[in-house]
Amino acid sequence: MNAPATLAQVRPDDSPVRAEDLVSLDLIRKLVGFDTTSRDSNLALIDWVGAYFREHGIASTLTYDDDGRKANLFATLPARDGNATTGGIVLSGHTDVVPVDGQPWDTNPFDVTRKGDRLIGRGVADMKSFLAVGLAFVPEFVRRGLRKPIHFAFSYDEETGCIGVRRLIADVAAKGISPTGCIVGEPTGMQLVVAHKGKKAWRCRVRGFEAHSSLTPHGVNAVQIACEIVAWIARRARELRDAGRKDDAYDVPFTTVHVGTIHGGTALNIVPRDCAFDFEIRHLPFDDPDAFFADVKAYAESFLPAMHAVAPGTRIEFDPLSTLPGFDTHEGSEITALGCACSGTHEFGKVSFGTEASLFHNAHLPTVICGPGHIAQAHQPNEWVSLDQIARCESFMRRLADQVCAT
Ligand SMILES: [Zn+2]
Repeated sequence: MNAPATLAQVRPDDSPVRAEDLVSLDLIRKLVGFDTTSRDSNLALIDWVGAYFREHGIASTLTYDDDGRKANLFATLPARDGNATTGGIVLSGHTDVVPVDGQPWDTNPFDVTRKGDRLIGRGVADMKSFLAVGLAFVPEFVRRGLRKPIHFAFSYDEETGCIGVRRLIADVAAKGISPTGCIVGEPTGMQLVVAHKGKKAWRCRVRGFEAHSSLTPHGVNAVQIACEIVAWIARRARELRDAGRKDDAYDVPFTTVHVGTIHGGTALNIVPRDCAFDFEIRHLPFDDPDAFFADVKAYAESFLPAMHAVAPGTRIEFDPLSTLPGFDTHEGSEITALGCACSGTHEFGKVSFGTEASLFHNAHLPTVICGPGHIAQAHQPNEWVSLDQIARCESFMRRLADQVCAT
């Protein structure tokens, strides 16, 4: 709604960015102004974005969560010949942000503050600036006309496990829409990213048998058994680091496993009955998370005969917590070539953090990631993005317009 009709030109050099040359700042302020913390509704933001598209003559569809409190938005800018389904690309991002609870913010996180060459606010890096820059270019896409459609995909509940976008992808497939590629604007410092690791997480629950701590042979110590399994996982982590397959394009070039929480026991003078811990694997696309899990489970089960010999009701159980596949888009693919053309470089990287990109990729939609800001600033108090990153993103979008527009 606030996007100017004419867009500034690409900066010719590395001169400092002037805020007045940027076309997306008002839209960034607007989107950050909606508190879309994942636990809350995102509908106010979605309604506003829907109205923005309507103002430019573009219809959008929503897919809701079970309670109707949150929605994905999917909007299509058809090609000049009316084609709205075949080919073209998706610009994708999530609308939710992580909580600010307990974080020492110096400013109101939902009111963008500019300090020098930085914008500060929740979501300025992860990832409302990318959404805003995309929206800022809608008038230009419409004015110049498109050779192939451009789709906008705004999801809910990414931060809680990439939940919302799964419905959006299913809905898009059901409508017979078949884009040739997708750009996810997670913060990569505007570096083109063509792959990320997969992730899988579980909870292990050990049920032992309580006894007075002076009678340890009559009990089954759940904490100690859990710790044996934790130690086994730590050993596997070292093996993966030292002898696992590597891909040096990643910041962490090998598959990692780790234990993040552990809870067990009630008092020192009681042999503990219960202990539970959560663990995860972040794996390179060619490593199998299920094989790792099978090994953990087999090791855990080796304790059962001794446990049952003391108390038959003892057990070790596993709950799956989350799964996000990895992805690796082919270097020669059309979307990689387009991403290179838009970022003005032939270099691309791979990252260890998970995104919605892998879900698009697994739905047969080749995907790259490229967005303003850095993952190190995401989820932090005083989250920030530099004006330079916004300028780079606007340059990216401007080159995209040159690639996809008819005039
Ligand atoms: Zn994100």
